Amino acid sequence: MNEEQRKQQLNESPSYNHDKKDKPKKDYSTYFDFSSASIEEKEGRQYMKIGGRSIQINEQPDFKKGKKRGKEEVEVQYGFNVPEELRRLGQGKKYLIRTYGCQMNVHDTENMSGILEEMGFTETSETTEADVIFLNTCAIRENAENKVFGELGHLKPLKLEKPELIIGVCGCMSQEETVVNRILQKHNHVDLIFGTHNIHRVPELLQDAILGKEMVVEVWSKEGDVVENMPRKRAGKTQAWVNIMYGCDKFCTYCIVPYTRGKERSRMPEDIIHEVRDLARQGYKEITLLGQNVNAYGKDLGEGYRLGHLMDDLHKIDIPRIRFTTSHPRDFDDHLIEVLAKGGNLVEHIHLPVQSGSSEVLKLMARKYTREQYVELAGKIKAAIPHASFTTDIIVGFPNETDAQFEETMSLVEEMDYDIAYTYIYSPRDNTPAAKMEDNVPMEVKKQRLARLNKLVNDISARRNAELEGQVVEVLIEGVSKKNENVLSGRTRTNKMVNVAAPESCIGQVIYTKITEAKTWSLNGELVEMAEV
Ligand code: SAM
Ligand code: SF4
Repeated sequence: MNEEQRKQQLNESPSYNHDKKDKPKKDYSTYFDFSSASIEEKEGRQYMKIGGRSIQINEQPDFKKGKKRGKEEVEVQYGFNVPEELRRLGQGKKYLIRTYGCQMNVHDTENMSGILEEMGFTETSETTEADVIFLNTCAIRENAENKVFGELGHLKPLKLEKPELIIGVCGCMSQEETVVNRILQKHNHVDLIFGTHNIHRVPELLQDAILGKEMVVEVWSKEGDVVENMPRKRAGKTQAWVNIMYGCDKFCTYCIVPYTRGKERSRMPEDIIHEVRDLARQGYKEITLLGQNVNAYGKDLGEGYRLGHLMDDLHKIDIPRIRFTTSHPRDFDDHLIEVLAKGGNLVEHIHLPVQSGSSEVLKLMARKYTREQYVELAGKIKAAIPHASFTTDIIVGFPNETDAQFEETMSLVEEMDYDIAYTYIYSPRDNTPAAKMEDNVPMEVKKQRLARLNKLVNDISARRNAELEGQVVEVLIEGVSKKNENVLSGRTRTNKMVNVAAPESCIGQVIYTKITEAKTWSLNGELVEMAEV
C-alpha cells in the first residue's frame, strides 16, 4: 500500500512523493541567518523583532537537547486544570485544528480540542469561520512538511483579511529548529508555535497570543512530565485512542521521532486501566493503545511490568476489542505473545514494521534485528495466533540500498505474505544520522522500486482478501461509509475495512457479516446477525 492508499484508509487527504530532481536543493543556512533581527529583554522575557513582527520567545527548539537522554525521573502530574480566568477566553469564538500524520497526532488533537472547549471555544470545520486555527504537523517525511508550508501560504490572505485570527503551528514540525526559523523569517502571519511536550500550556500560550501583538514561541526540547487529566474531546463514539507511552529511544538512523517526541515515558498502568474501564462504561467498543514503540512499555517504570502484563490486565475488562500500535520487533517478547494468544478482546492483528528485507540495510538503519530474527519472531507469533493478520511498514531507497538488497525486501514480502504493507520512499530528515549518508539512490530508481513493491503488496493484499470470500466475520461498525451513504463501514478483528448494507442501528455494534466480494483494500459483505460480544 502506498502513502496515498494508506491515507485514504485513514480518511486523510492523499499526498504524493515529490521528485527531488525537479526541485532546487534546500539551503538551510538561510533559515539560520538572523543578522537583520534585533533582540531585547523585557520583564525577564526575550523579544525578537524580525521583518516588522515582534516575537515573544519563551523557548525555541534545540536539537541537541531533544537528542539527550537523561536519567532523571519522569513525574506524573495529576493536577492539570484550565485556569478559571481563562475559561471564558473563547466564548463566542470558534476553533479548527488541521491534523497531519499519525494516530499520535490525531490523539493530541483530541486533547487540544478538549482544552479549547474548556476555554469556551466551539469547533468549526470552516476555515473562514475560525478565530483560532492550529496546524498539528507531521515531520516524518519531507512531503508532509511541504504540505504544511503550503497550507500556511493558503492561510495568509485570510489572516490579512481578518487580523484577529490566531494561526498556531504545533506538533512534530515545531520541534525542528529549521522549521521554527523558517516560520520566524518567512511566515510572520503565524501567531503561535508550540511543540509536542507542552500541549498542556495551550491555555496560557493562547492567552498571550490573543492579548499580545507578538508571535509567541514556546517549544520545549526536553520532554516534560507525563500530564494526566487533560480534558479530551474524542473524535468518535465507538473507537478510542489511548496513549500508553510517549517518546522513542530507538533512534533508527532515518527517523526524526526520537528528537520530536523525546525519551520513552510510560504512563502508570493504573491510569491506563482506569481510562480503558471508563471508556468501556461509556460504551466504546474498541481501544487502540498508542505509542511509537509500544513494546518498550514499562521499561522505564522499572517494576518488571511490561506490555504483556498490561494487555493481560486489559484482557479482563469488558470491552470487545483492544489493539495496539506500533510494535518494534526488537522488544516483542514471548510473554506478550503468550498473552495475545488468549484472544478474546485481544484482537489478532499485528502491525510489525520491518522497514527492509536486507540485514545489511537493517544494520545501517540501526533497527537492531536481522531479517532472520524478524522472520523467526513472526513465525513464533503465527504459531501462537494462527489467524493473525500481519501488516508492516517498508522504506525503499535507503542510502546505499542496492538492487540485490531491494530484491531481499521483495522476497521478504512474499515470504511474510503481509495483509497490508505501508510503503515509503526514503526521505532524508535533518540532523538524523542517515541524513549524513549520501542519498545516493536516484529518485527514478526509488520510484521504480516503490512501484514494483506496491504491485507485489497489492497483489498479495487482494489475494489475502479474496480468501475471505464466503466467510462470516465479526465487523465492528464505525459509521456510514464515506464513499457511499447507503452502506455502513467497519473493521474486522484483523483490521480489514468492510462495507456492508445494514440498518443504521448497527453503528457502534459488532455484527456478523458474510463477505460477498473482496477488493484490494476493502471487503463488501452482507449482514448475517448482530454478534454478542
Ligand atoms: N514507531 C514506528 C516504527 O518503529 O515502525 C513508526 C514510526 S513512523 C510514524 C511510521 C513509518 O514511517 C516508519 O515505520 C517508517 O517506515 C516511516 N518513516 C520514518 N522515517 C522515515 C523517513 N525518513 N523516510 C521515509 N519513511 C520514514
Ligand atoms: Fe522512529 Fe524507529 Fe522510534 Fe519507530 S522505533 S519511532 S521508526 S526511531
